[in-house]
Amino acid sequence: MKHLYISPHFDDVVFSCAGKIMQDVEAGIDVTVVTVFSKGDDSYAQRLAENIRALDLLQARGLELGFEDAPFRHSAYCDFRSLILEDIAAADAAVVATLATQLRGLVCDLSIDRVYAPLAVGTHVDHRLCFSASLQAELPKLSFYEDRPYALCSGAVEARLYQLGARPDPVAENHTWYRYPTDIAPYLQALSQMSYVQQYLPGGEARVACFDLISASLDQASEQGYQAHFQHYDFGQDEFSLAQRAYGAYASQQRAFVGTFAHNAEMSVEYAQRIRAGANGQSLFTERYWQLNEWNGCAKENNKLQRAGDRS
Ligand SMILES: [Zn+2]
Repeated sequence: MKHLYISPHFDDVVFSCAGKIMQDVEAGIDVTVVTVFSKGDDSYAQRLAENIRALDLLQARGLELGFEDAPFRHSAYCDFRSLILEDIAAADAAVVATLATQLRGLVCDLSIDRVYAPLAVGTHVDHRLCFSASLQAELPKLSFYEDRPYALCSGAVEARLYQLGARPDPVAENHTWYRYPTDIAPYLQALSQMSYVQQYLPGGEARVACFDLISASLDQASEQGYQAHFQHYDFGQDEFSLAQRAYGAYASQQRAFVGTFAHNAEMSVEYAQRIRAGANGQSLFTERYWQLNEWNGCAKENNKLQRAGDRS
């Protein structure tokens, strides 16, 4: 068996899927992590070296596709608003098609059985491009992972699903799911505590304007386009410790992106407790993966999801 994990940037898959990768490797599955937007300035040599160290710890193989990271690709991607909240630049329409072709080729060349792609929680433009390209490529047994650290924010996964017109099924296990538009205020409050928001959107008018945009995107009931099925994977102390070591390899991303790694570890535990609240026993370390299925087999919804993936 061979599994492919699609990482928009160096670190996304290791932050988001370390537990599942360990479990795959333990089961004798061959794991490849492909980083899509792996080119930028001189600092990317260090980021590649960090990625190699992290993947070595997890016993996974790394590949890079060499697309330019957003701020280096287009000057329009220059701040939080343009990277996270605005439509994908027209010039990037071609990226989705090119990336879809490359992903399809990779899956064929490597005889991949199963693919994991970003759900694009947090809606970073490069994550949305990977999400859209993965759908367009019609990859085999495609599941979506919850992008960390974005997904560690309470309400963020629900916000992404809501914007896509996807509803979780079952809404089960005594979960307290965020309900939009009712729960916008607590979500924005949680979002304002995230390290990457405090770093890149410290406050003032820019934050107010961005939060207004997020509210607007959640303020209307989106038509249901997809049934979203999830699966949890719970891991123990050994996996949690190894995951922390793998995260620690990305020293260059620490301060601005995730806060301290100790803080990130705390948030990871809180997240596991939150999403496993109704389960028997407590989990220290949990990852959740999604499958999006068409609602009522309605083919036209494909276009809707594509649009939402591009814009959200
Ligand atoms: Zn990323």
